[in-house]
Amino acid sequence: MSVSALAPIPSRLSDIAPDPLSVLNSVFGLPGFRGAQEEIVGHVVAGGNCLVLMPTGGGKSLCYQLPSLLREGCGIVVSPLIALMRDQVAGLLEAGVKAAVLNSTLSYEEASAIEARLLAGDLDLLYVAPERLLTPRCLALLGRAKIALFAIDEAHCVSQWGHDFRPEYIGLSVIAERFPNVPRIALTATADDLTRKEIVDRLGLADAPRFVASFDRPNIKYEIVDKQNAPAQLKAFISERHSGDAGIVYCLSRAKVEDTAAALNKAGIEALPYHAGLDANIRARNQDRFLNEDGVVIVATIAFGMGIDKPDVRFVAHLDLPKSIEAYYQETGRAGRDGKPSTAWMAYGLSDIVQQRRMIDESTGAEAFKRVSIGKLDALVSLAETANCRRTRLLGYFGETLAATKCGNCDNCLSPPLVRDGKVAAQKLLSCAYRTGQRFGAMHLIDVLIGRETERVQQFGHDKLSVFGIGAEFNEKQWRGVIRQLVAMGHLQPDAEAFGALKLTETARGVLKGETEVMLREQAAGRPSRTKSRRGDIAVSAGQSKAGDPSLIGALRAWRSEVARQRGVPAYVVLHDATIDGIASSRPTTSGQLRNIPGIGEKKLEHYGDELIALVKASGG
Ligand code: ADP
Ligand code: ZN
Repeated sequence: MSVSALAPIPSRLSDIAPDPLSVLNSVFGLPGFRGAQEEIVGHVVAGGNCLVLMPTGGGKSLCYQLPSLLREGCGIVVSPLIALMRDQVAGLLEAGVKAAVLNSTLSYEEASAIEARLLAGDLDLLYVAPERLLTPRCLALLGRAKIALFAIDEAHCVSQWGHDFRPEYIGLSVIAERFPNVPRIALTATADDLTRKEIVDRLGLADAPRFVASFDRPNIKYEIVDKQNAPAQLKAFISERHSGDAGIVYCLSRAKVEDTAAALNKAGIEALPYHAGLDANIRARNQDRFLNEDGVVIVATIAFGMGIDKPDVRFVAHLDLPKSIEAYYQETGRAGRDGKPSTAWMAYGLSDIVQQRRMIDESTGAEAFKRVSIGKLDALVSLAETANCRRTRLLGYFGETLAATKCGNCDNCLSPPLVRDGKVAAQKLLSCAYRTGQRFGAMHLIDVLIGRETERVQQFGHDKLSVFGIGAEFNEKQWRGVIRQLVAMGHLQPDAEAFGALKLTETARGVLKGETEVMLREQAAGRPSRTKSRRGDIAVSAGQSKAGDPSLIGALRAWRSEVARQRGVPAYVVLHDATIDGIASSRPTTSGQLRNIPGIGEKKLEHYGDELIALVKASGG
C-alpha cells in the first residue's frame, strides 16, 4: 500500500488499513467529509466503480485522491487540462502526497523518471493527459505498474452532445477493456441526463452506482439587474461590493472584452483581457496572473474558464446573456469553489435577447437545432425575468426541487420586486407596435407612446396615430421594462428579417382582447441595492468562519503571496482563504491549536507552523 503520505502509521502496521477519516485529517487537514464523499471513498476503496455527479466546488477531488492513498498502488487521474493538473499536483505535493504529472510539457528524461517512479511504487497519484494515456507505450507501462484506481475527471468530455467534447476522451473506453479489475471513478459537474448516459456507455459504468449530489451552490448569490449603462454598473458592482477580489467578467465579443478591461483599469480595478484573438503568450500570462496573484479580475469571452479551478473567485459577472441556463450555471459556477460567499451578477436588457435571437437566426444550423436553441434561450430569459426565487428556478430547470421555495440568497428573495397587473400597459404597447406597422424597434415605439415629436415620428406621421402619447404615465426606462417582459413572455418578438423591429406573435391577440393576463415586474426607478455586504450576510454551508482581525488577515496574505512566489505555485496552493480566515479568527499560538484549523494537515504544520504562529503572535491582539 502507499503509506508515503501516512507518516503517523508505522510501516509494520501497513497491512492494517488506515481509516479514511484519519487520512483526510492527517494529510488534508480536514475535520470531516462533505456530503456523499465518505460513501464514495468507501465504495472505491472496496474496489467498486462509480459515477460521481457533483457541482463545481462540491469536493470531487477527494473522492479519488483519498482512495488512491488508501488502496495499494498508484491512482491514475485522467484530466483534460494541463494547467489544472499542474495546480492539483502542486497542492498535493504541499500536503506531502507523492504526486506527478505525465503530459506533453515534459522532456523525455523527465517523463522517463516519472515512469520509473511509477514502476517502483513510489507514486500515490499520477495525472495523465488522455492522449498520452492512449499511447501504446503508456498503456504498456500501466500494464506493468500496480494501479490503485482510474479516475476520469471532467468525464462529460466524452459526450459528443456536450459543450466540451474532446475526441481523445472517446478512446478512454480502453481503460475498462484493458483493466477490468481496477476500479474506475468518473466525475463531472455537468447535470444533464443525456451526458450522463453517454458517460456510462463509453466508460463501461452500466452496473456502477451513481452518486448524485445536489447541484445547489448555496454560497453563490444570484443577481440579475436591468442593464442601463453596463460599464458603469459593472464598475460600481466591483468597487462597492468586490473591491480587491478576484473575479471573472464575461463578454460576448473580443472587442467588448478589450474595452471593458480597459475601462476597469482606468477606474483603478486591475483587469486583464482574455480571448481567442490574443497572442498565445499574452493569453497564458494573463491566465497565470489571474490564477497566481490575489485579486485580479479577468475579462473574457467564454473561451476562458474550463478547467479553471481557482477556489477563491469571488464573483462572476455577465455583461452579455449566455446562450442557455446550462451555460449560465456553468459559468457562474466558477465563483466560490471554496464555499465562501460569492456573487453571480448579470446585467441584462432587451438588446441581449435581440442579439442572441439574431445569432440563432443567422446561424447555419438545421431548423430543429435552431428551435432547440431558441427554447434554451427562452428558458434563460424567463430566469432573468422571474419575480420569484432565482435559485428555485435554476435548480428546477435541472429537475431538482429545493426544500424551501425561497433561498434567501438571491436578489428576488432579498428584495422582492413589485409585481403589478400590466394588462393595460401591455395593450398600449402592442397596439403601438401594430399601428406603426411592426417595423420599428423599442426606441421608436417608446417615443410614440410617450408622445415625443421626433424627426422620425413626424417623418412617418406617427404623431397622427391614436396611440401617440397614450403612454405618458411611464418613463422611458419603465417602457423598456414592459417591452423586454413582453418579449420574454413571447407576446412580442424581434423580427428575424428587419433588425431591431418588434412584431406581434400569435399570443398577442389574447392580450389585446383582454383575455390573457399580464403580470409585470415593476421597473423600480433605480432599484435600491438592499443587498448587504458580501461578508457575514448569509449562512453558508461550508468553510464559513467568523471574520478575523483584518490586519492579521493582511499579514497572512502577504506572507502567503511571498511563499507562493518563492515556490512558483498559486497562492491558494499554499493556504486557502478559508484557512487564512480560520487562523485570523481563532489566533492559534501552539501547533496543536494550529493543527485544528481546517486546511492545516501534518505537512503544512511541519513546513509553515512556526512562521504562522509567529505571525499570529506578532500581530498583537
Ligand atoms: P470540485 O473538483 O468538485 O470542483 P474540489 O475537489 O476542488 O471541488 O473541492 C472544492 C473545495 O472544497 C476545495 O477548496 C476543497 O479543499 C474543499 N473541500 C473538499 N472537500 C472538503 C471537506 N470534506 N471539508 C472541507 N473542505 C472540503
Ligand atoms: Zn432565492
